[in-house]
Parts: sequence; structure tokens; C-alpha cells
Amino acid sequence: MLGGMSTAAHWADNYAEKIIREKGDKELYVCASGITPSGTVHIGNFREIITVELVVRALKDRGKKVRFVYSWDDYDVFRKVPSNMPNREMLEGYLRKPITLTPDPSGTEDSYARRNEKEIEELLPIVGIKPEYIYQAERYRSATYAEGIRRALEHRQRLRKILSEHREKPLPPEWWPITVFCTSCNRDTTEITEWDGQNGVAYRCSTCGNEERLDLTKTGAVKLFWRIDWPMRWAYEGVDFEPAGKDHHSEGGSFTTARPIVKEVYDHPTPTTFQYDFVRIKGRGGKISSSSGEVVSLQDVLEIYQPELVRYIFASTRPNTEFAISFDLDVIKLYEDYDRCERIYFGRESVSESRAAKERRIYELSQVDQVPKTMPTQIPFRHLCNLIQIQDGNIEGMIESQNIRTSEEDLNRLRTRARCAWNWTQSFAPDSFRFTLRPRGCEPLELSPGERQAIVLLRREIGENLDTHDEKSLSEAIYTLAGEAQVEPKAFFKLVYRVLIEKEMGPRLAGFLLTIGKKRALELLGGY
Ligand SMILES: [Zn+2]
Repeated sequence: MLGGMSTAAHWADNYAEKIIREKGDKELYVCASGITPSGTVHIGNFREIITVELVVRALKDRGKKVRFVYSWDDYDVFRKVPSNMPNREMLEGYLRKPITLTPDPSGTEDSYARRNEKEIEELLPIVGIKPEYIYQAERYRSATYAEGIRRALEHRQRLRKILSEHREKPLPPEWWPITVFCTSCNRDTTEITEWDGQNGVAYRCSTCGNEERLDLTKTGAVKLFWRIDWPMRWAYEGVDFEPAGKDHHSEGGSFTTARPIVKEVYDHPTPTTFQYDFVRIKGRGGKISSSSGEVVSLQDVLEIYQPELVRYIFASTRPNTEFAISFDLDVIKLYEDYDRCERIYFGRESVSESRAAKERRIYELSQVDQVPKTMPTQIPFRHLCNLIQIQDGNIEGMIESQNIRTSEEDLNRLRTRARCAWNWTQSFAPDSFRFTLRPRGCEPLELSPGERQAIVLLRREIGENLDTHDEKSLSEAIYTLAGEAQVEPKAFFKLVYRVLIEKEMGPRLAGFLLTIGKKRALELLGGY
């Protein structure tokens, strides 16, 4: 919350203003984000990407030109085989080599790094995120950073001092700011034996014994350590803004040491920044995604939340607060909150002006592309869960049954939401939410004479009067006919659910019967 001020400014707008204030009026602003693709990019990592994207949008909304660079640190060394990867034994053999030279364990992509990159690169446009990707392996291996590496070597002692300030044990005098991937065995198990003060670096590999002299302007084997690599690239790209997670921003973390390094060694100001917090996962129970093991990926979240909702979840939460993405009943509440935000945006629901301004901005930032010109068709998620289960997951059948006349774009949004509702009911909804109508043509249940009579009465009521009922009047009618049939209402409800879905509980009965519709309800209640 914005400290009770009357301003309704969104946090992304506040940061955009801060960037402009700190960096001055520029022709082009560079906003950066990045990660090592050492495993599946999970939803916590996604928070950084979307956080930058929202600030990028806020800058663009101020008429600024922005470059959004996303850096794949795919020249990092392969340190640990994640538990969710297939073919782990094969992967073990590539430890200490760059992840870009490690094969994709499923054999599809060019490398292990590429597999992890591609997984998320394909998903980001779905949520409206289209950064410019920079592949650090390519950069390093084409000697692009030769000058930046040489500068680090020239400032070796200064770097050693900066980094040592945050270490219990200072770095030894023979410390170097670089690592070399042995050109013979590709491992980083090397030690620097000499630097000639210019572009010549010699090393020895402890794995294969290889000894060699390299030219920085020609070799792709030399890499800066992360804590120097990051500020060097800020200077190289001219980065104005980059947020970072708690680990980097903690005392002695890599952002703390990057500040003096970028200034003193690379002569570039520190980017505007802030710290974003973790994302927890709630209500997934023991369900483990088949694609990514125990890691919850953007893909997993998109199975339950339509893209606008994914953006909404992050846009409506300040980045420095920890929060949970829910897979439990809160899913329904989030969809309701989003729908309300949408109604407020289109003036269909009135709230105080300050609240409206805030909600309108969140709604804008939640859109994948442009804000729709007219309000999209809203089918509440809870209701949609019933509709789609009545249709046994058939999305087109559901749309037909609702007789919806709207644009193709709007229909597509509904289709996506319906798919999410179906996925949710099948994988995460509580049992009480889940049902399957008894199939057409199946044998009627064995009922007592009294039960049969009650069902006959209900069937008659539906046949004659369903069209004239709303939920309230139908509910009253059900109570009346339970009395006529001399069955306790509670027992009567159980009986009807058994006949409809072979369960003793289900969605609220009157609304449920109206949703099922006359034709199907008569079929289900027939034969008694
Ligand atoms: Zn070697």
C-alpha cells in the first residue's frame, strides 16, 4: 500500500519516475533482467521478469523509448544436476563445464542451457513479455568482452580489496577476477599462471594437465567471475534499471559489491534498483507437475490462471512483499477480484475515485496487449467450473450451450478461462467441487418407492416450470415438493445429487439444475 497518500500511483509508475529522476531525461532507457538457465525457470524467477516488464510499460506510457534486455547467463558453469531433470547420470559427466556445452538430457535442444531458455522464451509472449535476449555464451565466446576482461585484470588488486571487504577471509594476493574453461576438456578446473599485462593470459588445467597461453581478443575461454561480470555488463549495455532478489541485495551480496565495481572499474553509474521478494506456492498439495518435477513453472501457473490473471497477480502486489500463488480455493477469489477490477475499469461497478484510479491502472497493466475496447464477457470462474464439468470438459460445447454472441477475441479469452477452469477442477479443486453428470443412457439408480416418487415430482416441476424459475424460486419449489414427498430436505438434496452425479453433495442445487438446463435435467431425472 502507498502509505495512505491520496495518490493512486502504481508502484511501477513510481519506479519509472524514479528512474527518470535518477538517470535524467534520456533518449533511451535500458532495463535489464537475467538469470543463469541452470534449471527450469520457476515462478519466483518469473517475478523478476514481470517486475521489469511492468516498469518498462510504465516508462513507455510516459513516452520513453526503452530497451528491455534479458540476459541468459548461459556461459556459467554447470554446478549441480537439478532433481527434476531426466538422464541425471549423463548430466553428472558435464559438471564443471559451461551449461551451454552440456547436452539437453531429453535430446531435443542444442544444449542443456537452451532447453531451459526455450521453455520460458516460448511462454513469455503469452503473458505479453517480449524482451531482447542476450546470450552470454555467445558474447563471451566471440571475445566481445575482451576489453571488459582486460580492465578487470588491470584493476585486479582494487577488485580484490572491494570483494574482500565483505568476506570473512580476504581473497589471497594471487587471486584473479577471471576463470578459464580449459580448451581441451572444457572444465573450469584451471588456474591462471600468468598475465602479460596486456591481452595474454596463461593457465594450467588440473583435470587434464593442459597448459596454454590465450589472447583475450581471440579466445572464448576466459570468463569474468559473476561479481565482476554483472557490473561489467551494466557498463557494456548502459543499464539504467535492474531489480534483484533478496540474495543479491543482502549485506555483502553481489549487488552491494557491484556498486563500487561499476563506478570505480567500469566508470558507469549504478542502475536504479529495488529488491523483489519471494513467491510462495499454496494449495498444490502433493501434486507434482509432470513437466518440471517439484518446481512450479510459469507453465504450471498458466494451466490454472489465464494470462491476464497472471499479470494481475504480480501487478496488484508490490514487488517487495512476499506472497503466495494459490492453487486452492483462493483461485476463485482471485478470478473474482480480477473481474471486479475489470468492472471498475469499464465503469460497471462504482467505488471511491481513489480506489477506481488504482484499480484502473492495475487493469491496464494486467492486459497482455491493448486494453479491450468494450468489456469482455464475464463468466464467473466458480460458475464456469460447473458449466465446463457439465460439458465434461468440452469447451466448444460449453460455449454453444451458453449461446454467447461476441467477438472472436472475446471468445478466445473465454476459451482460455474455460480451459483453466477445467484444469483446476480436475487437478486442484476440493472434492466438493468436482462432479461428473451420470452419462446418457445409463441405468437408473435403484431407489425406494418414496425416493422414486420424490424424483418424479421434481422432474415434473422442471418439465413444467423450469423456464419461469430463477435460483430463488426454484429453491423454494424444491423445499415445497420435498414436503409433498414427505422427505426431509437434507435427505432430498442427497437423493437428487445421487441421481444427477452419484455423489451426496454438489453445487447449490437450484442453481445447478438451472445450469444443467431443462433438457439434460429431464434426461437425468427420467426413468424413475
Ligand atoms: Zn582440461
